[in-house]
Amino acid sequence: MPGIGPRLAQPLAKLAGPNVVDLLWHLPHGVIDRRHLTTAAAAPAGKVATLVVTIDAHFPSNSRRRPYRVRCRDETGFLHLVFFHPRPDWLLRALPVGERRVISGTVEHFNNEVQITHPDRIAAPHEIESVLTVEPVYSLTAGLSARVVERTIAAAIERAPQLAEWVDPTVISRAGWPTWHEALVRVHKPTAEPDLNPMASARQRLAYDELLANQLALGLVRANLRRMAGRSIIGTETLRRKVLDVLPYSLTGAQRRVLAEIDADMASPQRMLRLLQGDVGSGKTVVALLAMLAAVEAGTQTALMAPTEILARQHMSNLEPLAAAAGVRVALLTGRDKGRTRQAVLDQLAGGEIDILVGTHALFQDQVGFRDLGLAVVDEQHRFGVHQRLELAAKGRAVDMLVMTATPIPRTLALTAYGDMEISRLDEKPPGRGSIATRVLPLSRLDEVVSSLQRAIGTGARAYWVCPLVEESEASDLAAATERHAHLSMLFPGRVALVHGRMKAADKDASMDAFARGNADILVATTVIEVGVDVPEASVMVVEQAERFGLAQLHQLRGRIGRGGRLSTCLLLYGTPLTGTARARLNILRETDDGFRIAEEDLRLRGTGELLGTRQSGLPRFRLADLASHADLLAMARDDSKLILANDPDLRSPRGQALRTLLYLFERDSGVRTLRSG
Ligand code: ADP
Ligand code: MG
Repeated sequence: MPGIGPRLAQPLAKLAGPNVVDLLWHLPHGVIDRRHLTTAAAAPAGKVATLVVTIDAHFPSNSRRRPYRVRCRDETGFLHLVFFHPRPDWLLRALPVGERRVISGTVEHFNNEVQITHPDRIAAPHEIESVLTVEPVYSLTAGLSARVVERTIAAAIERAPQLAEWVDPTVISRAGWPTWHEALVRVHKPTAEPDLNPMASARQRLAYDELLANQLALGLVRANLRRMAGRSIIGTETLRRKVLDVLPYSLTGAQRRVLAEIDADMASPQRMLRLLQGDVGSGKTVVALLAMLAAVEAGTQTALMAPTEILARQHMSNLEPLAAAAGVRVALLTGRDKGRTRQAVLDQLAGGEIDILVGTHALFQDQVGFRDLGLAVVDEQHRFGVHQRLELAAKGRAVDMLVMTATPIPRTLALTAYGDMEISRLDEKPPGRGSIATRVLPLSRLDEVVSSLQRAIGTGARAYWVCPLVEESEASDLAAATERHAHLSMLFPGRVALVHGRMKAADKDASMDAFARGNADILVATTVIEVGVDVPEASVMVVEQAERFGLAQLHQLRGRIGRGGRLSTCLLLYGTPLTGTARARLNILRETDDGFRIAEEDLRLRGTGELLGTRQSGLPRFRLADLASHADLLAMARDDSKLILANDPDLRSPRGQALRTLLYLFERDSGVRTLRSG
């Protein structure tokens, strides 16, 4: 891009993304209409206006706290321009006394004076036409001015080519949508507020493009996974029976139903691609184990993959005794295993001496080879993307895949993330759970929180204390957690453990262990407290600055308690002041513990971007589509992509070629790659 050196490229990449096309996707969220040309006497307070004035006098400030003022006038009166921390030489040049200038900005009435603080635009009288326009307003980031962003995006649009149409022509004409190029031009040149509405036709068109790319990519992945012939895996029930005999409980109806769905998939000669959705504590692990046992009975190996070391270890310690009861061989492999131990596991795996391998993403590594992998189970899937799904699936011949997520995802969103899979839901919780009282209160009542914590711990309770998630900065997450740990350690000497993402694995384990064994009563953590961690004695959950978390995330955190049958308490502390929406969101958690309902509400109130909290969600991030508004476009895109793939599975027709371009535009080219290899 012209005029964009490294100094601007960096903040631009941070703002929009590393590619020119990302600039096109950076849509304005507001408009400023500068066409209101007015006079000093008539300038309306609180509105953006443009005035032509003569510079009268400069009043430099004599103290750092007082602003620099410039008095201007027209035939109706005075206009004062106010500048905080200005560069006086620049002001003298931009606003020479006695000359006329066009000034545009937000008008204020202050002490009977008409003023504009930091005018947005200062121009010479002959440039007035360039000021009297409607400007798009873009979000910014440090190091970028509004003008630079606007100009760069405009330049990117100028470079955007006209492209062959990829949307079905009947859809285009029915909806009255503009072409892709025309839509781009329009969304970046809003002339009034309604143009910013997600339902404006140019916005809808682009949202549809994005959703179509998403659905088509998933469809291609699915087709590719299905292309390899699957195998029929039918268990004998022998191992299962042994495990069911030693389980201290019987399966819930939902667990039985889901298991039957999985059995049917595995038995079919087609490859299984199934998502198991179940709230925290709904008992997914035992379902996974029983599924794996069927695969072992059929003579194949299985893998259970967790997103973190801690979870992998926990799965291992839960599975080990059950597997032992059935005489099934289980091993653990994580990134931490090195050298001889690791080699031994790899050898046994290749030799078929391991039936169930539990691990982290270390299972992706090339050296990990199974003798015959029949079923791969991926736990807490929302942290793994489609790419990783593909990689793991490539480990065996047409491996059956069972993906488990503890995040109840609204149906619309499930389609965007897992449109390539069948979906099972565990919608019934095992009996005998203690109930959880949820309270929402301001952080200013910390003292009360601490004293109720004291009481609870006095009766043998253990507590999680989750520290605020600070956007985009692990370092500050860390600082907050460390600080809170120090604070609580003073109140509860020797009884507080700390765990965060930057810790060495061994230290993390030690902290978790201390908490699990009761050597610590309080575990202070950043959100890394692993979503699947199971400490039944924990009955208090404190979340600081709860308003910064996704509802689904809070719901998951809350699911860490209420496991041991004792009455549990979840305290959601918010930093004041709380907006109306934020309060409504937190109140939902007080009202219900139905994860699916919570997820739907979160989607409604916040839109998808925020749904699962931030960074590691692994769900597709839409830049143009807003599923809260565009759910019906998603359904259309899904139907359309099915039709496309049925008629033109390799995208060879002219429209197919255009659709390839669409996939590239939205960087869903992993889909295109599957076309080439397949
Ligand atoms: P999640 O779905 O969050 O992974 P888990 O599989 O960890 O849930 O199960 C949570 C707890 O519930 C475990 O302690 C498990 O032993 C127990 N559990 C699972 N199924 C049942 C059941 N049918 N009846 C009673 N307890 C169960
Ligand atoms: Mg689990």
